[in-house]
Amino acid sequence: MNQVVVVGAGLAGVRTVEALRGRGFTGRITLIGQERHPPYDRPPLSKAVLAGDADTSFVETDLEAMEVDFWPGVSAKSLRAGVVETTEGEVAYDGLVIATGSEPIRLPGDGPQHVLRTLDDAHELRATLVPGARIVIIGAGWIGAEVATAARRAGCAVTVIESAPTPLATAVGTEIGARTIPWYDGIDLRLGTMVDSVDEGGVRLVGGEFIEAHVVVTGIGVRPAVGWLADADIDLHNGVVTDEHLRASLPNTVAVGDCAAWWSRRWGTRLRVEHWDTALNAPEVAAATLLGEDAVYDPVPYFWSEQFGHMVQYAGHHPAGDRLIYRGEPEGKWSAVWLTADDTLAAVLAVDRPRDLVQGRRIIGAGHRLDAERLVDPQVVLRDC
Ligand code: FAD
Repeated sequence: MNQVVVVGAGLAGVRTVEALRGRGFTGRITLIGQERHPPYDRPPLSKAVLAGDADTSFVETDLEAMEVDFWPGVSAKSLRAGVVETTEGEVAYDGLVIATGSEPIRLPGDGPQHVLRTLDDAHELRATLVPGARIVIIGAGWIGAEVATAARRAGCAVTVIESAPTPLATAVGTEIGARTIPWYDGIDLRLGTMVDSVDEGGVRLVGGEFIEAHVVVTGIGVRPAVGWLADADIDLHNGVVTDEHLRASLPNTVAVGDCAAWWSRRWGTRLRVEHWDTALNAPEVAAATLLGEDAVYDPVPYFWSEQFGHMVQYAGHHPAGDRLIYRGEPEGKWSAVWLTADDTLAAVLAVDRPRDLVQGRRIIGAGHRLDAERLVDPQVVLRDC
């Protein structure tokens, strides 16, 4: 292999470049990135950057020292075996890394709507968060909650509209989501409410009501950014389909990060995880696979969110769980654990209880069973349950 092309210069893309060089690959590497910026981390965008505590979140890396041919501001348009066609012409490869991440879903309507995916999005949105501004946020998922946190802190009049009966319902279910409703104190939280369109000056709800807004932010989820692969001879289904080695169906091709739907041996299902830890750690496996080594990606998925003064952390795969058990009261620091039918820990969600997260993640990784009776006592540490 002499010429690797990495499409997508986000965290997964740049970490794969580093992993290739770290494993001794000396051939040519071309890194193609649609954005004009060097690679950066996205989690700070909805936290420190939106709050005005930071302006950038660039990844510490040295593309020049790694002799990477970096093409910022260039998009891949299509793919045929051995050639990527870009907005700046064709580039040939004998090894391909697909790391194009995901892109926000927008709502219908002619009115202006912000999304929060890029550094530029964050700067544009930050400029609008001024005292008294009427902000309507559509979606009470992870991004919606974090934007609402920043907007409330900035002194805006905040409305959050969510079609589900609770926040975070799609991510972790309505039972957990209900515990977060009190966090929206001072926010006009409209649950079970559908938006019809984003119009000039506000948002039209299904049923006709119009909610006025200076700023509308749509945070209703993302989809894998694989449109450029539509005509390629590669399996796509909710992203780029890969095996447990992150190998895609096209020869000499791996996919990594938000855009990859990989086979998980641990959970016996296909996973596509839109979180930072995957973009950070899967690249080692992707690089190893591309170089012909035998490596498997089978993590206990992990993510965190900082919202309304709370640190929310999650590890595991709760659809594998059967029973939900709470540790601690909703007003304080608490966690929730999902057990399978045979009392194996499937997932843990910790609110301001980082120790439960760390121990839970290890227990899930080891496949240990827990004693449900002991679990309900938040004083008993998880590893002793
Ligand atoms: P991306 O970061 O999306 O990078 C992909 C890159 O590919 C992009 O720069 C894109 O422009 C480029 N690209 C796309 N298509 C093309 C093309 N055709 N040609 C060339 N380039 C292309 N996760 C957590 O675990 N915790 C958090 O608190 C958290 N907070 C977040 C806050 C925000 C605001 C956002 C947006 C995400 C957050 N995440 C969080 C998720 C995490 O940031 C992502 O999972 C991670 O960025 C995925 O990395 P990636 O490299 O796979 O994709």
